[in-house]
This record gives sequence, C-alpha cells and structure tokens, in this order.
Amino acid sequence: MGLNIIVLVKQVPDTQNITGDAMKEDGTVNRAALPAIFNPEDLYALEGALRLKDRIPGTRVNVITMGPLAAAVVLRECLYRGADFTALISDRGFAGADTLATSYALKCAIEKIGKYDLVFSGRQAIDGDTAQVGPQTAEKLGINQITCVSKIEKIDPAQGEIVARRSVEGGWERVKARLPVLITFTDEGEPPRPASAKRLMSYKRVSPQPETAESGASPGSGPSALALWDIAAIKADPVQCGLSGSPTKVKTINSVVLTAGEIRYIDAGDQGVAGLVHELIADHTLG
Ligand SMILES: Cc1cc2nc3c(=O)[nH]c(=O)nc-3n(C[C@H](O)[C@H](O)[C@H](O)COP(=O)(O)OP(=O)(O)OC[C@H]3O[C@@H](n4cnc5c(N)ncnc54)[C@H](O)[C@@H]3O)c2cc1C
Repeated sequence: MGLNIIVLVKQVPDTQNITGDAMKEDGTVNRAALPAIFNPEDLYALEGALRLKDRIPGTRVNVITMGPLAAAVVLRECLYRGADFTALISDRGFAGADTLATSYALKCAIEKIGKYDLVFSGRQAIDGDTAQVGPQTAEKLGINQITCVSKIEKIDPAQGEIVARRSVEGGWERVKARLPVLITFTDEGEPPRPASAKRLMSYKRVSPQPETAESGASPGSGPSALALWDIAAIKADPVQCGLSGSPTKVKTINSVVLTAGEIRYIDAGDQGVAGLVHELIADHTLG
C-alpha cells in the first residue's frame, strides 16, 4: 500500500551573504537583494520522502512551497530529484506572512491536496530560524508531530505506524507515532540525492500552471506537475493570510561580527569560573 507524502519546502535568501539592504522599511526581508537558495534542511525532508517512495511501491511525493513566482525554482528542483507533483502557493495577499499566517496558508494547501499519511518539513528555515512552521502546521491540521528527526527507522502503512529517530541534546531518542504525522527533519539524515539528468530534461521547461478553486486539485504529471494556487484556490480566509494575519512584525536585523579582541580566555578551574560569574552578575548579564 503506497503512502501519500506532502513535503513543505522554502526558498530562502542565502543568509551567509547578508548586506546592508537585506531588510525593507516595513520589517520584511528584501529578497531581491539576496541570492535565493533551497532551504538546506528541506532537502533532507525531501530526501526522507523520496527514500520512502523508493521502498514502498505506489508512494506519491507532493511538494508545496509558499513564496513569490521565482520560488518555482525550488519546486522544479524537487521534480528533478523525484517528486511527483508540486504546488506553488503565491498571491499578493500572502506577502509579509509570519509563521502563524504561513502555517495557516500551508494547512489550507495541504487540505486542498486532500489525502495524506505524512507531512515532512525542515526543522527550521535559515532566514527566520524560528522552527515554528512545522509544529504550527501540525497543530492546525490536528495531527501528531515528531520534530528534529534524522531518520525514519520503520514504517508500517498497514498498521498506520511510524518509528523515527529524533535528535536530543547529547544523543537521540526513538519515537513511535500513529499516522498521519508531521515530521521536521534536521540535516543529520541521509544525504540528499542529486537531480536526475533524465528528469531534468523532462521538467526544465515546466512553469507554474494557474489553478482556481473551481478547477479542483488534480495532482498530475507533465506540465500539470507544477500548479500555481492563489488564496481563492486553497480556499483560505484572506484576513488570516499575509500581513493582516501576522501578529509578529520584524523591526530590524543586524549582522553581528565578533572580532578577535572580544575573546578572553579564563582559567578552567573553580577560581576562574567563579571570577567570570561575578563579572557577569556585576554587568547584569546574569541574575
Ligand atoms: C530575521 C527574521 C526574524 C523573524 N522572526 C519571526 C518571529 O519571531 N516570529 C514569526 O512569527 N515570524 C518571524 N519571521 C518571519 C518568518 O521567518 C516567516 O514568516 C517565514 O515565512 C516562516 O518562518 P521561518 O522562516 O522561521 O520558518 P521555520 O519555522 O524556521 O521553517 C520550518 C520549516 O517550515 C517549512 N516552511 C517554512 N516556511 C515555508 C514556506 N513559505 N513554504 C513552504 N514551507 C515553509 C520549511 O520546511 C521549513 O524548513 C522572521 C523573519 C526574519 C527574516
């Protein structure tokens, strides 16, 4: 019995290359000023899904991203690696979304796809680093969640059970959950596969195909392997999307550069540590 898997991926600005104009005046990211890349942990989520597709005949891998039209690049990358169907949810009304509005829109898109056993996402995106979108999406769907997973150890579609290895401080734990479940992946898992040359030739010209609420979800192949859904298509409430659905506003981001002069070595013994603690209390860093 095949599985229906939905993977959430995000195109992110390359935060290794932050420049002075990285933020706009309204506190949102100036994506045009930064090179865009596939969020690194999302590649591990996709790989986790593709490995299950390799193992379990009849498994389908659907991928969703919310972003501008340019984010179709990461969806084509998913098709090159083995995804069956991708959907770009894009609408001016999604702009300025925080994690609450993002997870609401993703939940509506997941429900449009309909039947699913597993939802995979990265643990966190390198631009926001909140790690909230996966858990919030699970909460909104009303399904189980396992976060910080490095490996799917066992899955039994007939019994509706999954066992995953989850990273914790200083080690890992094995967690069993009932399907459907949302899993967030770290980058400690199986290395993401490269694009297949054959699939790249098949999908390189695929562009997002607009689909309305009326035309319905019909995950297909060929050109329809990349759907374009707006707010109406996913039947979302516009008030809960974008800036209007976002209680969080980012005022500014700063690039903090530590210089060698700010490093001080202390004696690793009791006396050195006690001295450091006193200093930190004195300058109100502690206490
Ligand atoms: C510097 C900075 C600070 C921010 N601080 C906050 C804050 O404190 N509170 C807040 O609510 N928002 C904040 N935001 C906004 C937030 O980053 C965006 O709302 C973003 O769309 C979702 O959050 P994230 O990138 O932190 O995702 P995370 O929760 O870190 O992402 C986890 C996973 O969810 C999936 N995912 C996330 N976004 C999408 C998407 N658009 N499409 C498909 N899958 C997705 C991916 O699989 C990803 O790996 C901040 C943004 C910036 C740039």
